[in-house]
Amino acid sequence: MKILNTLYINGQHVTPHGTEVLTLIHPVSEQPVAQVRLADEEDTRLAIAAAKAAFPQMRLSSRQQRVIWLQRLHDAVKAREAELVETMVDEYGCPAAFAQSTVERSYNSFLQAIDLLKDYSFETRVGKAKVVMEPLGVVGIITPWNANYGFIASKLSMVIASGCSAVIKPSELSARQTALFAECLHEAGLPNGVFNIVTGLGNVVGAEITRHPDIAKISFTGSTAVGKTIARDGAATLKRVTLELGGKSANVLLDDVDLDVAIPLALQVMSWNSGQACIAGTRLLVQENKLEEVKAQILKHLSILRPGDPRDPKTTLGTAVTARQYQRVQEFIRAGIAEGAELLCGGEGRPEGLASGYFVKPTVFVNVRNDMTIAQQEIFGPVLSVITYRDDAEAVQIANDTVYGLQAYVSGKDAGRTAAVASQLIAGRVFINGVYDEPLAPFGGFKQSGLGREFGTYGLEAYLEPKAIMGQ
Ligand code: NAD
Repeated sequence: MKILNTLYINGQHVTPHGTEVLTLIHPVSEQPVAQVRLADEEDTRLAIAAAKAAFPQMRLSSRQQRVIWLQRLHDAVKAREAELVETMVDEYGCPAAFAQSTVERSYNSFLQAIDLLKDYSFETRVGKAKVVMEPLGVVGIITPWNANYGFIASKLSMVIASGCSAVIKPSELSARQTALFAECLHEAGLPNGVFNIVTGLGNVVGAEITRHPDIAKISFTGSTAVGKTIARDGAATLKRVTLELGGKSANVLLDDVDLDVAIPLALQVMSWNSGQACIAGTRLLVQENKLEEVKAQILKHLSILRPGDPRDPKTTLGTAVTARQYQRVQEFIRAGIAEGAELLCGGEGRPEGLASGYFVKPTVFVNVRNDMTIAQQEIFGPVLSVITYRDDAEAVQIANDTVYGLQAYVSGKDAGRTAAVASQLIAGRVFINGVYDEPLAPFGGFKQSGLGREFGTYGLEAYLEPKAIMGQ
């Protein structure tokens, strides 16, 4: 069994002061694979002190210097691409293609930060004032398990570009990936303390970051419940927060849509990262007269969701991350049945032919009402709720009838109608007739999907504070 017993503090791989040990279970074999010695509050305070000591140098670093660091971070991560992919597949049980795209996304975020830096004006004039965008200070980065490298890299790239320093607290469920990623980042040779990595529990390390007076800002990605705790407890020291939280995205199919295109897309977006994605399109809204056709199309295309060995290139659906998450998804499936939704396919239990592993059957419910548990709560598994509407106005009303507002999808042939619906959907990102990538466009949620935006100038400015200087 692998033993992980180092943290990364002040440029060194150090033994934790914390003594609590977490056993990681392999999501396919269901056997223990690693033991992780976790950080405690003392480790966290050491990491914060190191980041605080590094900040003055970061604050004064030139644009050119930051570009060099970002390039070195990119190169160091890219150099170990294959190992990073393999570790992610093994730790999460996710399909290799998803791991590959996550690793690419992670090293590319350093290049995107370089692009941003090239054009960004840290100083502007407003009338008689010189306005300087100043780095905030020490940033607490708290990330979820579901795309570990990507979240760490995208947030760290903004920390470096802005001239801040950081304490990173990744999910304890990603400890193997984090250990390898820390080795890569160390290779980049940034000054000691600029970033520190303390893997530990949320209510220990995360809570210490949230209350510590030397943390100026928290950039958090994770559940809405934990995001609210961070916003509340961080208020005691008036921390700035960026919160990227949960979602329950609607995918609206207008009645003129080509179902042969839209249904495979719907199955794809509901099952991103085996359904464990904040942006998964888990509510499919269809015009009531189209329901029978939609059902037939779902059954026709269902085979594109293929659970199995994550290393098999034909696999498109991996495991749930833990036994607990698997059980949680099963409970949602039972709730759907108990509340009267009709199971079109899937359901409880492991898919046929798989002897072990936290695999969930791709599951589609029809005749779902939007007030049902499965339509309102984030399931984080490959479970789709099909909901009918009468006209476009009702589709918009149902789509927006949720506490979340992270992402939405709309498909249809009439460009005027899809644009009209898109403009009315309350979501941080709306995709029309497909899925797209624009890394410099803002990303983040309305309502309880979050606070603030990441990526591009919007993301960079979340690490900066304007200062007006007059009389100069
Ligand atoms: P989580 O909220 O349980 O944990 C996220 C991080 O917060 C972990 O590092 C955890 O240890 C830490 N944490 C837990 N309790 C804490 C506390 N009291 N104080 C400080 N930190 C604490 O989420 P998860 O299960 O790791 O990830 C899944 C969730 O993340 C889903 O809700 C998903 O929608 C959300 N998510 C959102 C986005 C987005 O960009 N909006 C992206 C990915 C995931």
